[in-house]
Amino acid sequence: AFDTLVIGGGPAGAAAAIYSARKGINTGIAAERFGGQVADTMGIENFISVSHTEGPKLVSALEEHVKDYEVDVMNLQRANSLKAADTEGGLHEVILASGATLKSKTLVLATGARWREMNVPGEQTYRNKGVAYCPHCDGPLFKGKHVAVIGGGNSGVEAAIDLAGIVGHVTLIEFMGEMRADAVLQKKLKSLPNVDIILNAQTTEVIGDGSRVNGLTYKDRTNDEIKHVALEGIFVQIGLVPNTEWLKDSPIEMSPRGEIIVDAHGMTSVPGIFAAGDVTTVPYKQIVIAMGEGAKASLGAFDYLIRL
Ligand code: FAD
Repeated sequence: AFDTLVIGGGPAGAAAAIYSARKGINTGIAAERFGGQVADTMGIENFISVSHTEGPKLVSALEEHVKDYEVDVMNLQRANSLKAADTEGGLHEVILASGATLKSKTLVLATGARWREMNVPGEQTYRNKGVAYCPHCDGPLFKGKHVAVIGGGNSGVEAAIDLAGIVGHVTLIEFMGEMRADAVLQKKLKSLPNVDIILNAQTTEVIGDGSRVNGLTYKDRTNDEIKHVALEGIFVQIGLVPNTEWLKDSPIEMSPRGEIIVDAHGMTSVPGIFAAGDVTTVPYKQIVIAMGEGAKASLGAFDYLIRL
């Protein structure tokens, strides 16, 4: 059995595995796809101390760093369910899709999250070519340009306010007849001179010139008319979904949005089971934050082990 078993191989999981292995304890990491969301990222300009890098480059650096240590790396392994130990200090079990069972005294769950997509024509074609999901990451790439934000919930309205300070113009597109964001955010948004809000609008297509986005079409849901907006970027803000479906039969406490609730040491509601990164309630989903949280959860697990 492992002392610490990490599930997930994104920045949070990689950091957790390295911190755990450096304590000289028996460490394993199982991931469906090593690298996680970083593998799908083009330019990264906010990984502090590195002015610019690319997703695949950072993924190989993460892999190399993990391989510097004695870590049992199990890539292309999907966890299907979790059975928590019956007694404190007992072994937790993770059942893989392959049918194998991994046992460990402590776990660090770092299965990340995924952006909800619009599922309209053009979205995949122009992903990273004008279609973006993270304003903190990609906002500065659209300096002075016209962008749309899809979604009028808190994250959409926060993104629109944030972007309005960087880009030339923001069009916020909301499907329903009103925005769901907090009133104070809506008020702030409406006070900005370079923001338009379109309600009752269903985005139907992302349009481009073959290499970059140059517009979008939406259906006005009040009269079914199709309309076009010329723009250079589209930030999709219709939800970040935590990868916790595999934990639904476990006793681990989650928020109403399905994020794992952790304490200041990264521990979940089940003693010995820790979690880190985008899969948790910790706000602001970013690489530097996921790495810090992964290190923290791993140190939390080590502290727990030495008290057993
Ligand atoms: P993830 O990176 O999501 O990794 C999750 C890991 O868990 C993966 O290895 C996955 O395969 C694995 N996994 C999931 N389910 C299971 C399962 N059931 N069993 C086994 N393994 C499983 N952040 C920045 O700081 N700067 C940026 O420029 C930036 N740009 C981004 C661009 C895009 C397109 C996207 C999508 C995200 C971007 N982000 C950026 C956000 C950043 O990538 C995430 O915050 C970060 O990757 C979260 O790390 P994580 O380790 O928590 O999760």
